[in-house]
Amino acid sequence: MSTPRAGDGNDWVAGRCWLYCRREGIPVLWIGPVHVTDATGHMYGCETCIAELRHMVHADLVRKDQGALQVGG
Ligand SMILES: [Zn+2]
Repeated sequence: MSTPRAGDGNDWVAGRCWLYCRREGIPVLWIGPVHVTDATGHMYGCETCIAELRHMVHADLVRKDQGALQVGG
């Protein structure tokens, strides 16, 4: 699966990026609910920030895989 891009058929809307850049009035994609101590909201991210977030998620998966190998090996 590749990084989502504006115009790719996903449900992009104009809004604010809740991730790193915090820009407003740009195409953003809903990336899921966010839970804080006393509230739940809907989180949106722009193409650039989703790409960065995706990189972090994949890096974490790789790290966990390597940890599992070390434990099992
Ligand atoms: Zn952003």
